[in-house]
Order: sequence, then C-alpha cells, then structure tokens
Amino acid sequence: MSNGEQENWSRVKERLRADVGDDVYSSWFARMDLEAIEEGTVRLSVPTRFLKSWIQSHYAERVLACWQAQEEKVTRVELIVRSAVLKSTVLPKARPDLGGENGGRYINGNSNGRALVAGDPSVHEALGGSPLDPRLTFDSFVIGRSNTLAHAAAKQVAGARRTDPVMFNPLYIHSGVGLGKTHLLQAVTWAGNAAGERKVLYLTAEKFMYGFVSALRTQTALAFKEALRGIGVLVIDDLQFLQGKSTQAEFCHTLNALIDAGRQVVIASDRPPSDLESLDDRVRSRLAGGLVVEMAPLGEELRFEILKARVMAARAHHPAFDVPLPVLGYIAKTVTHNGRDLEGALNRLLAHNKLTGHAVTLEMAEREVRDLIRPQEPKRVKIEDIQRVVARQYNVSRSDLLSSRRTANVVRPRQVAMYLAKTLTLRSLPEIGRRFGGRDHTTVLHAVRKIEGLVGNDMALAEEIEILKRQLQE
Ligand code: ADP
Ligand code: MG
Repeated sequence: MSNGEQENWSRVKERLRADVGDDVYSSWFARMDLEAIEEGTVRLSVPTRFLKSWIQSHYAERVLACWQAQEEKVTRVELIVRSAVLKSTVLPKARPDLGGENGGRYINGNSNGRALVAGDPSVHEALGGSPLDPRLTFDSFVIGRSNTLAHAAAKQVAGARRTDPVMFNPLYIHSGVGLGKTHLLQAVTWAGNAAGERKVLYLTAEKFMYGFVSALRTQTALAFKEALRGIGVLVIDDLQFLQGKSTQAEFCHTLNALIDAGRQVVIASDRPPSDLESLDDRVRSRLAGGLVVEMAPLGEELRFEILKARVMAARAHHPAFDVPLPVLGYIAKTVTHNGRDLEGALNRLLAHNKLTGHAVTLEMAEREVRDLIRPQEPKRVKIEDIQRVVARQYNVSRSDLLSSRRTANVVRPRQVAMYLAKTLTLRSLPEIGRRFGGRDHTTVLHAVRKIEGLVGNDMALAEEIEILKRQLQE
C-alpha cells in the first residue's frame, strides 16, 4: 500500500471519529484496517463477523461518505473479516476452541476449524465485552469467611458444563466497594472462557447501556441481541449504574430471555436487589429469585492473606522486595477493609523500597500508610435492621411500622425509623418510602423534619435516638 493511501486512510479515520464521536469510534472502528484500494473499491477489514455485520448495518453509508469526502473516486466500501490464519502469526499461541453452540458465528475459525481466541481479551472486547484485567483470576482470589459462599457459587458457575442444569439463576453478588466483586466476576469470565464450555461475556452496566442505547438510537437492537444469543453466561458488573427507562426495559427483557433459555446470568452490585430503587418490581423479584450472596467486609485474617499473596506476586517482578510478616500484620490490622487500599498500601512500600533502596520496616510502613489507616468505618446499615431495632425498642411489630395505622404509639416509632433510615443509609426518600409500606417520599420528608425538629428540644428523645444509632452501628 502506498504512503498516499495510508495517509488518506488516516484522514478518513479522523473524519469518521469526528463524525460519530470518540465513544462510538473506539467501540466499533478502532480495529478496522485498510486492506486494499482497487479501482473505486476500498476494502476494509475488522476482526470479527459481529463487528462486520454491525458496521455494515449501521455505519456503511457514513464510512463511504467519509471516504468520498477524502477521495472522490471511491464508489464502494467492502468490509471483510480478517482471517484468523493471518492473525495466528501474531498471536503468541493458539488457544482452544470456544466451543459454545454459536462459537463459530462471531469468531473467524482458521482452516482446521479452530477459533484462535478463547481467552483472548481482544476478542472478548470485540464481542462488546468490557476490558478484563488479567490479574483478576480465581488463582489470585483469596478465600476467607466473608466470601466463601460467593466464591463457591462463582466457581460453580465458571465450571458448569453446557448440559448441566442451571443451579441458581441469576447469581447475584453484592457488597460494599473494594471487597472483590469485580475480581470474582472477571475470574468467572476468564475461567469460563478458558474452559471453553460456555462463552462468557463480561459487561459493566455502563457498557450494557451503551450497547443498547446506541442500538436503540439506530432503530434496531437486532445485532446486539444476536450477539447476546451466542452467550452462555452473561456477567454484568455494577448493576446499580443501570439507568434510564428504555435501558431498564431492555435489561428486563434480556434477563428474562436469557434465564428462560437456560443461560446463566451473574450480577454484581453495591446493594441487594430490593434496594435497586430505579428498577421495577418485576425485575427486582426476578433478580432476587436466584441466589443472592452478600460479601462482608474483609476480615483481618483475610486481609493478611491477601497481602501475603500480593507480596508474593510482586516478588515475581521485584525479587528484592521483602516485607516482614509483622509489617503485613500491621497493615492488615490498621488499613481499611477496602481491597484497593490494601493494594495501595503495598504499592507505597514497594515504591519507597525501590526508590530509596531502604528495607521495609515497621517504622517505614507506619509512616507510608498513615493516611490509609481505617477511620471509624461506619457500618452499612440496612433498612430492615433499622425497622427491627426500632420495633423492638418501642415494643411494636415491624409490620406495624409498615402498616397504615396512624395511632400515636406507631406513628412516632415509624417516624424515628424513617429518620434513621435517612441519616444512616444512602437511600433516597422515595426508596425509603417504598420500604415503609409504599409511602410517598413527602411522608418520609415530613417524618425526617419532624424528628429533626424534636431532638433539638426533647433530650429524652435525642438520647433514645443516639442509643438506637449506636446499636445499629455496632
Ligand atoms: P469491588 O468490585 O467489590 O469494588 P474489586 O473486585 O475491584 O472490588 O476489588 C478491589 C481490590 O481488592 C482488587 O485489587 C482485588 O483484586 C482485591 N481483592 C478484593 N477481594 C480479594 C480477595 N478475596 N482476594 C484477593 N484480592 C482481593
Ligand atoms: Mg467493582
């Protein structure tokens, strides 16, 4: 190919990018190559059939127009799938067949019929999957009391064969931030795809929205749905970010379709299904109908084990990096529950060690990680707990709190409970209203204001509330 042609191609790509925007461009066109220009025909290649059909049905005219703006004599753009045979000279090693029933549909097999791409992240991404971190595997996941069940369930899903009955669907994992949800979900994806039994697609909720939103905008979600049909396991991370009515309708649709077809769905979120306030009741109950597992904060012992594993991994690249056990014990004891902070703490020790050449000591660790030391971490308080504790305190039943009864002995406790829900959780007023027997958010607001007004003057009530708060946060 001549320099002039390459230059034209660069300009066309720039035009296209400006035309469709960065997001769309990087999703669909980033890996489109110029193969040849003959007469008036431009031949472009993409790595998968899925990309080809998507671009053809949605962007064919745009691409042609961009070419014509650059080079008048172009009259036709032809799209081909780059052959896997060609790619095999680039890929480090051939990987086992993906195997799924539609395994060959989106991935170009080479001449002996094998797809080259089972665990290849670039293929996973071409299918619309979100990027995967190669470090987040089952091997690097440390099991402890707080995550045993979630881990076992994830393992089961990853190892299941196509013909096995689906044991729980969806598998729904929730926890606070930094406790290993993404790690587990990506481990399922890596392991599942490597086993080759069922194709696993990992999407963040944002990616899911993006796929659908752009599909809806172009009037047809067909290609995207088509792609989903080839998926044995759909993994969706950070479901709490799913927003927008039409996206949710599509999500509901996809969820039902996949589950009814016996495909596995795995979901992670920072809250239980009942707290996903923007989703409608049917979706929530479907989500709650599989296995819902909460991962508790990492205990000290687990933090210690994670640190040990991390140091071992770091030593593969930095053999001189040595962290005495008492230092690990100190970090495990004092640094926050969040797995990311543990990683951050070790990174600082490593950086200090590399840059100054000083050995890692307890004193150095104390200095380096000072700002990661756990403050009094507020516990995640649940609305049910608030209702339970308040009901007990005031000697009413939880259903009294949720009922429409308006007698004084129920009204006050109910207001207190709503007030506590607002101050101790991140739930919105409408969500709190819903959880209190389907009340309106203005009722909740009224209750919150009422109690706020009272505690200023009523010492006894103020103290009662203090005690309730302490019980809930213990
Ligand atoms: P979440 O998605 O729940 O916010 P992540 O999965 O991103 O959390 O975890 C944050 C960090 O903590 C990651 O670096 C992850 O590898 C690490 N981590 C969390 N739990 C574990 C675990 N059980 N074993 C090993 N690493 C863990
Ligand atoms: Mg995450």
